[in-house]
Amino acid sequence: MKNIQKIYEHAQQMTHKGNAASYIPALAKEDPTMLAVSLMSMNEQIELGDCKKTFTLQSVVKVLSFMVAANHHGIEEIMRYVDVEPTGDSFNSIVRLESNNNKPFNPMINAGAITIASLLPGESMFERVKSVTAFIEKILSKQVSVNNEVFMSEYHSADYNRAIAYILQANGFLKSDVEEALQVYLQLCSISVNASDLAKIALYLATNGQNSEAVCSKQVINIAKALMMTCGMYNFSGKFAAFVGLPAKSGVSGAIIAVVKEGEIEQLKGPIGIGLYGPAIDDVGNSVAGIDFLTEMSKQYELFCL
Ligand code: GLU
Repeated sequence: MKNIQKIYEHAQQMTHKGNAASYIPALAKEDPTMLAVSLMSMNEQIELGDCKKTFTLQSVVKVLSFMVAANHHGIEEIMRYVDVEPTGDSFNSIVRLESNNNKPFNPMINAGAITIASLLPGESMFERVKSVTAFIEKILSKQVSVNNEVFMSEYHSADYNRAIAYILQANGFLKSDVEEALQVYLQLCSISVNASDLAKIALYLATNGQNSEAVCSKQVINIAKALMMTCGMYNFSGKFAAFVGLPAKSGVSGAIIAVVKEGEIEQLKGPIGIGLYGPAIDDVGNSVAGIDFLTEMSKQYELFCL
């Protein structure tokens, strides 16, 4: 049996240590024992588990919406609205919105991502959502859609995010009105993908955009990876950087993308994109099996991140 298969089987045993997210009712229905892992290089792919099972991007989309907004406005303009500093707070925390000149700390937490949603190109809610789905569609060479059940489920339980959006608006950090920024943000979180799609998105980052026609400047891609490295894995970001050492972003659906700039995993060589889906998450919001898989994988293969 290949080593990577053993790592997968070990990780799958870990799923009982977490639970599917319950604060978004539609996510609570997912099978917590599931684990899908897709690893993709420019010309090879390894798939473990059901890599065609769909789920929603949740916070993984924050990387993509940041890239679309920053590529459109330029990084200097974006940094007038959102910083690039880690917080160590939970993703939907409100406490720091009255520090750092009230500016959201980074685009990987909800405050920053809601501001980014209001800065997306387009004149309407529809066009702003479309700017990100169109970017994802270019990367994946296929159409994607918003899971309306998940969107509505979250929209009706969005008190914290709505509160954050009101504070952002009061302090001048929203370019659209509160409801629009909130709906754009939540629709983006509800885009459906599968684990193979995640691997392709991660490979896009690993190759600095060389594997697709989707356009994003190298500067913006590098900043996106730096944000993933410093703030991508919730309050576990420091430990993940120390012990796994790859730019990665997770979401409460149990999705994770991880980026290998250069490495060798079984038959895969060169830049490698990794996509995981394991809906049992831990207390901070990361897939327990996903973390176990990536930790073991980074111990057993030589992988470079930057
Ligand atoms: N839609 C989720 C929220 O804002 C995203 C959470 C996440 O994946 O971190 O609460």
